[in-house]
Amino acid sequence: MRVLFTLLCIVQMFVQNNFGQERNCGTMEVLDRQIKENPSMLKNMDEIERQVQEYIRKHPNGSGERTVITIPTVFHVVYRTATENISDAQVQSQIAVLNADFKALNSDIGLTPSIFQGVIGNVELEFCLATQTPSGNSTNGITRTSTTVSSWGTNDNVKRSTYGGVNPWNPSNYLNIWVCNIGGGVLGYAQFPGGPATTDGVVLDYRYTGTLGTATAPYHKGRTATHEVGHWLNLRHIWGDANCGSDLVSDTPVHNTANGGCPAYPHYSTCSGAPVEMTMNYMDYTYDACMYMFSQGQKTRMRAVLEGSGSRSGLQNSPGCMPVDPNQCNAPSGLSTTNITAATATSGWSAVANAINYTYEYKTNAATIWTAQDVSGTSVNLTGLTSSTAYNTRVKTNCSAGSSVYSATVNFTTTAPPPPCPDQYENNNTSNSAKTISIPSSGTASINAKIGTSADVDWFKFKNSNSKRNIRVNLTGLTQNYDVALFRKGDLNTPVGISQNSGTADEQIIFNNTLSGTDYYIKIYGVDGAFDNNICYNLSVTISSSSLRVDNHDEQILPLNELIIYPNPASDEITVVVPFGNQKEGILSILDITGKVVNTQKLTFDKSIKTINMDVSQFKSGMYVLNFRTLTDSYTRKLAITDK
Ligand SMILES: [Zn+2]
Repeated sequence: MRVLFTLLCIVQMFVQNNFGQERNCGTMEVLDRQIKENPSMLKNMDEIERQVQEYIRKHPNGSGERTVITIPTVFHVVYRTATENISDAQVQSQIAVLNADFKALNSDIGLTPSIFQGVIGNVELEFCLATQTPSGNSTNGITRTSTTVSSWGTNDNVKRSTYGGVNPWNPSNYLNIWVCNIGGGVLGYAQFPGGPATTDGVVLDYRYTGTLGTATAPYHKGRTATHEVGHWLNLRHIWGDANCGSDLVSDTPVHNTANGGCPAYPHYSTCSGAPVEMTMNYMDYTYDACMYMFSQGQKTRMRAVLEGSGSRSGLQNSPGCMPVDPNQCNAPSGLSTTNITAATATSGWSAVANAINYTYEYKTNAATIWTAQDVSGTSVNLTGLTSSTAYNTRVKTNCSAGSSVYSATVNFTTTAPPPPCPDQYENNNTSNSAKTISIPSSGTASINAKIGTSADVDWFKFKNSNSKRNIRVNLTGLTQNYDVALFRKGDLNTPVGISQNSGTADEQIIFNNTLSGTDYYIKIYGVDGAFDNNICYNLSVTISSSSLRVDNHDEQILPLNELIIYPNPASDEITVVVPFGNQKEGILSILDITGKVVNTQKLTFDKSIKTINMDVSQFKSGMYVLNFRTLTDSYTRKLAITDK
């Protein structure tokens, strides 16, 4: 059988010639690609074919008792435009066609020529729109997903949420049918039994789905789905995808190749024996109105995968079309882990009907004891993990009536630890050895450096300019509790801004001022000796002509508990940073050495005037006292005015 499938792949490229009147089915092209991507699929298909042949041997000529099998079906409508978002009624019209065609109840079956009437196959399949989701929630069997993708092609991306599509529901329990804009003239494509579960199902172009709405002649009678579901149940094209090829069915005649359009009857094959071709078979390439039968041999192939040990036999036990039980408590599905780093990961799963909460557990693969936690949501952020280590996860649902079993265990492996970060700026442990950050014309410089030891302190300096006086300092990417302070040249004891958030929260200083451009210094240090010799922090410095604001941060710079003045001594201009505390207003006064008030102003709390600039050029040289008082507090600081 391996030889057979390999041959099919090789020859199909020669027989995919399109005469314009043939339907364009992408199934064999997709099979070819999938086998190239995953050669082990051939082995699966070989095993399935062995089981099918054994089934056929036991059920010759379509014999045997057969009960109707109902296949729970979900339609995933993936649309970019309103037109592509086909109606519920159009989906229901497609289900009706499938239910007719697979039970030989289609109104046009009487057109079958007498020579083929004896081999008409009633496959005895029904299709129901799912009534419950994999998580046990009620559904109408139709999902709708808005996307930005304009045409999908046949690369299976419509089946992947990460590409703007939608993931299949568990294909052991559902026939998944995606409806989308495939493009390229392809009407639809299917995945044969034996392919990956993550892409299992049928894809239909929205123009060739059902019999209403967007259904477009001559493929407007829902037969694209009949044809593709035939593939999904292991049927080959009737010409065997080769000149006079085999479709692995004994009661269909040998066809030269695909027939398109609406062939006149009888259409003779030139293959051995020159039989009349069964052009009205669903697995040919004719128009929808000109195909209306399966054969009994095709029925047997399809039933083989649905019964006994068949690869799709699980569908018979699917709860997909059972009514939702108000007391059921299913185990969560869809457990997966994302955002995996050396130390962190996020686990998530699908919500379950009737859940009160979930018990999530994880452990290293080597451990025997799970770490458990109850969570009300459907995801957990894991931290403090060990790098390069395999972990196991599982989750169960807790309902009022009890708990579900655990989900299947899902494993993930943390990544290797990041390489140690090179620090290009040491030694810069003092203000004298501060390293210069040059700020490009964009206004923002960004560097990476590290606090490598408990004694390490990093000093940097930079210039603002007269045209870009306002300053913002951001410290991010922290793995330890670091703080940052900003100093203006001339006073490296009293910061003009300091950010002291706890833990690994980002730090930010915003310093809007009208002073002329000069050197500023930044000091970064670990709190209580915190350091990380492996992972760098990111320091970004922005200078701007317009005032900078606190973005995305509730934290405020400075909870100040002192009055700050700089430069000091001063001659022209001073900047005063006032501490409002919890108050909304305060009085700032300047007194001379005799205690006489020489200047006073009332200040109202506003982030933008926390920093006040004052012209002191008219002050006589000497000592002054600045006082700022609010209803609750009073702050005093001396100021020296010198001659210019
Ligand atoms: Zn096909």
